Amino acid sequence: MICCDEMQRAMDYGMMIKTEKYKVRDGRVINDIETEYFIRSGDESGVFNYIGVNFCPFCGKPISRGLWFAEKKK
Ligand SMILES: [Zn+2]
Repeated sequence: MICCDEMQRAMDYGMMIKTEKYKVRDGRVINDIETEYFIRSGDESGVFNYIGVNFCPFCGKPISRGLWFAEKKK
C-alpha cells in the first residue's frame, strides 16, 4: 500500500524503500523497529544506510507493520 503521491515519488527515486530488513544487502539498517519501510541514504563508500520508519514522513500515516501489530493487540 502506498499512502500518498509523495511516498510514491520517493520510492520511484529510490529514496524510500519497501523491503524486509533481512533482505537489505547493499547496506545496513541503523535502527531497530518493526517495519518494512526504510529511508535510504548513501555515502562515499557506496554503502547505503537504511533507517526504518513507522510513519510516512510526508502525510503522517502509520505505515509500519509494527504499528499494525500494536494496534491489533489493543
Ligand atoms: Zn504518505
